[in-house]
Amino acid sequence: MTTVERQDEAMSANAPGAAEQDTFRSTDPASGELVGVFPVQDAAAVEAAVARARVAAEAWAALGFGERRLRLAAYRGYLARRMNELADLVHRENGKPHDDAVLEITLAIDHLAWAGAHAARTLRLRRVAPGLLAANHAAYLEYQPLGVVGVIGPWNYPVFTPMGSIAYALAAGNAVVFKPSEHTPAVGAWLARAWQAAVPDCPDALQAVTGLGETGAALCRAGVDKVAFTGSAPTGRRVMAACAQTLTPVLMELGGKDAMIVDDDADVAAAANAAVWGAMSNAGQTCIGIERVYATSAVYDAFVREVTEQVAGLRPGSGPGAAYGPMTMASQTDVVRRHTDDALADGGTAALGGPVPGTQAHGNVIAPAVLLDVPESSAAVREETFGPTITITRVADAEEGLARANATSYGLAGSVFAGSRSRGLSLARRMRSGMTSVNSVLTFASVPALPFGGVGESGFGRIHGADGLKEFTRAKAVTRQRFPLPVDLMSFRRPASAAPALARVIGVVHGRHR
Ligand code: NDP
Repeated sequence: MTTVERQDEAMSANAPGAAEQDTFRSTDPASGELVGVFPVQDAAAVEAAVARARVAAEAWAALGFGERRLRLAAYRGYLARRMNELADLVHRENGKPHDDAVLEITLAIDHLAWAGAHAARTLRLRRVAPGLLAANHAAYLEYQPLGVVGVIGPWNYPVFTPMGSIAYALAAGNAVVFKPSEHTPAVGAWLARAWQAAVPDCPDALQAVTGLGETGAALCRAGVDKVAFTGSAPTGRRVMAACAQTLTPVLMELGGKDAMIVDDDADVAAAANAAVWGAMSNAGQTCIGIERVYATSAVYDAFVREVTEQVAGLRPGSGPGAAYGPMTMASQTDVVRRHTDDALADGGTAALGGPVPGTQAHGNVIAPAVLLDVPESSAAVREETFGPTITITRVADAEEGLARANATSYGLAGSVFAGSRSRGLSLARRMRSGMTSVNSVLTFASVPALPFGGVGESGFGRIHGADGLKEFTRAKAVTRQRFPLPVDLMSFRRPASAAPALARVIGVVHGRHR
């Protein structure tokens, strides 16, 4: 059976009547070869998937934390045993090197493990202090599943990024309907099929629906209890507008323009190594990738020299040993070209790379570019480039670097390199972003206990960690009266003296504070 037949089988199992629907093709961005043909699922098909998920959600929630943890473990075991098969599919459909796909899947598995292991202690019923006014009551708090969560995923990390929502939503007791990007439907279908194989007693707790943007829009309108979206800010706005019709809550992960600050006393070689990986890995198609560096005058020359040397040694392509692959989405090449051209036209210089040549001639593989002292007003500094480019700008000191790093509408993540621990932490804490790594890049994404998400145009809400579990729940508050008080303040039968007596008590307890 060919890959296409296997995928078709997978999708038709997931979508009754798929054969009569329109289809779309997924192709290898390096070669143009067909990876799979998938149904364009319409609103009716999406609604049917959500209806199945609604039934599954009840059974899944009823299993409780312990039983769900076992099934999530079976899922991660399945993924781990088929790591190479999945990595090969990611490589063919997204274009990234096989080893980078392995790294991505490893991270996703680690998050699955953490979410499964920590859901109970984060979300289960607990007693909280009732406080002075309700001292005769017991107070309970728990985090209950929402029901069905719609996950709209991107193509750049087609396993890791959606799993940041899927794993945490499932661990919290929800069913998930996942709409993978039209550029990576085969990976999305594979993940759903893997769930059905690993968790056969609750197969509809995770389903994939495939299609183009309209299928995602249909998911927003299908009555799900929350939508977790990863993608661009313009599409994020459309998703929010669609969800507003039904007051469906949303989680928005919208990319960024992340900066690195290199301080006077930083380890320049380590900073350069991290900047090159942060900017160029995955062909720069990383929402938390480093797109801008602000290096202090003290280290600027050495940093530029080191980065340029390292970048000069990178060999992009699709063969073994390639540093990174082609652009997954061919149209992204035009964005990178525009940003690079603008940077040079605006007065920046290219230490390496530069104008991006025609798309067709190079099979969507873009050579890396190191752009120096590009004006802050230029698109290459202001807009998300999502390509293998980096701008490096000289600043007087780290404070100026921080001010420039923060002068953006985005605020996803970032990095600080500093010799002083306190200074590094201080800069990191003052960076206007959801996550910052000190003396490394992207590390926060690999720490399952840490929340992941942005501020400003980078979106809102958090995946990963305890916050990520709670994101897919609603807090439920319960009180239970343990014994009645002689005077019931919330009764029409309370004596006239009750309120003045209460005022006196409150005066004693709180009135002394000035
Ligand atoms: P989009 O924001 O257009 O798409 C993201 C996801 O939303 C895809 O699954 C897409 O489906 C889906 N979608 C599209 N239209 C709708 C809609 N009306 N309602 C619901 N869902 C919809 O991103 P692109 O993939 O087109 O990439 C464009 C830019 O976004 C990139 O250049 C990059 O800058 C940024 N981006 C950022 C990412 C990040 O990690 N933060 C990830 C991906 C992109 P389909 O693919 O089928 O159209």
